[in-house]
Amino acid sequence: MSDAYHELLEATIRHLEELKERGVRFVAVSPETLAGLSQNRRMPLAAKAPAPPAPASRPIVKPPAKAAPSPSKIVEQKSLTEQPLSLPLSGEKPNASPLPPLSPEAKAAAFADLRQRAMACVKCPHLASSRKNVVFGVGDINAQLMFIGEAPGADEDAQAEPFVGKAGQLLTRIIQTMGLDRDSVYIANILKCRPDTPGQSAGNRKPTSEEMQTCIPYLHEQIDLIRPKVIVALGATAVEGLLGKTAGITRLRGTWQTYRGTPLMPTYHPAYLLRNQAPSEKRRVWEDMLQVMEKLQMPISEKQRKFFLKGTE
Ligand code: URA
Repeated sequence: MSDAYHELLEATIRHLEELKERGVRFVAVSPETLAGLSQNRRMPLAAKAPAPPAPASRPIVKPPAKAAPSPSKIVEQKSLTEQPLSLPLSGEKPNASPLPPLSPEAKAAAFADLRQRAMACVKCPHLASSRKNVVFGVGDINAQLMFIGEAPGADEDAQAEPFVGKAGQLLTRIIQTMGLDRDSVYIANILKCRPDTPGQSAGNRKPTSEEMQTCIPYLHEQIDLIRPKVIVALGATAVEGLLGKTAGITRLRGTWQTYRGTPLMPTYHPAYLLRNQAPSEKRRVWEDMLQVMEKLQMPISEKQRKFFLKGTE
């Protein structure tokens, strides 16, 4: 085969690898392009060079495997085929085209592969060298509800699990107050490594936007595989990292947003509630959770509706 053919082949592979780096798992290749590629393979290569397959927001259509009922514990989940899923190449423009269904086996395998890649990640050398653990995420990969925080703290770094410190324990109580088990939802952070604090023996720091940009493709893959019905973004940094909005959590909380085609509810970070114990702030977070429960068509008792209202505690 000629050098020109190999150059083209390498360019195509490089292009696909770049897409993969950016978190893209599928590309669309039209039957015409495929036919063209195989024709070019047989043709003398002095002629027209085939362009690398154009990246597209629609995934390759695999033969639709029959969707098995999800074992989600929240509300009965409809077939995965009914869940729209976006795969934007970059940025966060929602994409309305549905992704092909994934069999439970394919989903588990893809998740395991993703975990393995994230666990070995050294894209941020300063974080890779200071971390004790990569904090990948925890919970049900078929969950309908996903909570996303900013980054692991010292407790999470030590235990390799998100939201296990004081703020995490409060998050667990919030989840339980919604009538759910912690292990029936999925919990992750934008950053999978604890932001390092060189020269400090304790404390946390906000992840930089570069760190978040570097790490977020892993979260995108998690979201695209889990396909939650609702995402809750915890705190200003998570909202900023996910939506790029700096409008302020006070204004954004309680208002539905969209992320990768999925409804997203911004709310206060549980650490904020630990610092500010006013019932009014607890009620605000609780009202956000009531909206989430309504969106998920979960049963809500009268008692639940009144939590943290004056005179009802
Ligand atoms: N705060 C976060 O945002 N994430 C954690 O995992 C713990 C605390």
